[in-house]
Amino acid sequence: MRTVKLKNGKTIPALGMGTWNIGDSGARRADEIASLQAGIEAGMTVVDTAEMYGNGRSETLVGEAIADLRDDVYLVSKVTPSNASYEGVQKHCRASLKRLGTDRLDLYLLHWRSGVPLSETVRGMEQLQADGLIEDWGVSNFDVDDMDELDGISDGCVANQVLYNLEHRGVEFDLLGEDREREVVTMAYSPLGQDGELLTNPAMREVAKRHETSAGPASAAQIALAWVLRQENVLAIPKTGSIKHLRENALATEIELSQDDLKTLDAAFPSPKRKMSLAMI
Ligand code: NAP
Repeated sequence: MRTVKLKNGKTIPALGMGTWNIGDSGARRADEIASLQAGIEAGMTVVDTAEMYGNGRSETLVGEAIADLRDDVYLVSKVTPSNASYEGVQKHCRASLKRLGTDRLDLYLLHWRSGVPLSETVRGMEQLQADGLIEDWGVSNFDVDDMDELDGISDGCVANQVLYNLEHRGVEFDLLGEDREREVVTMAYSPLGQDGELLTNPAMREVAKRHETSAGPASAAQIALAWVLRQENVLAIPKTGSIKHLRENALATEIELSQDDLKTLDAAFPSPKRKMSLAMI
């Protein structure tokens, strides 16, 4: 498994799992738990959730899935901006821990910028760290100017989780490089494009046809993930509630894209030529 290095020296797998929309359906619950457990077994041990997902239902399901696997998992959750005051962060982190059935998070993120002064949220995060409830903290949906502001407050942020896939390449213009210079890991969310459109693009299919994995012909999903993972310092967190898709996603790390592949993909999804404001889902 490829890895990324956090600024505290810890290395974690570059391919993890997202959990948005997981835990919402009783009918899918068993499959969702099984696919998370299979992913952890396959080495995709970074599990990303948030208090906002299904109003805590995603965290509850993750808690069930990792009950016997907690020490194998790098567990990430997020505080909703409206809860990101100093007191709010203390209270909401504890509520997340309860749903997750654990006494600590490996990483706690501010989900996006809030009306609360950033310095107050950071103070809340640092208190949680001092109390041993979180190992590290980070941010999400922070653009270059937000990261600049954060620089003036603290150098404790270890990760910035942002939308990054072939359809949304704006961060390549500046943010990706700047995060790398700060030793802040970029966590790429929606790496598969979320709604399925990216995976049906003819360029994706053409590139997929040129590759094989140990389980057979490559898929467009594997190309989408290999493309995100071609960058050092970038961690991808695809979501799936299906064992079949999970096994497919896990094998994406076997694929090395060639210069020809990158040219084909660049032609279909051009890289940014100017600053673009950060896209968000
Ligand atoms: P995504 O991972 O790009 O795509 C998920 C979709 O792809 C699901 O419909 C899934 O369906 C499907 N899929 C998964 N593997 C597949 C495969 N091999 N072949 C075909 N389809 C496949 O989108 P996302 O859930 O938006 O993003 C991933 C994670 O990032 C989220 O779950 C969440 O943890 C995080 N996120 C964070 C933010 C933020 O603001 N920080 C925003 C959005 C997302 P199946 O379940 O049926 O496989």
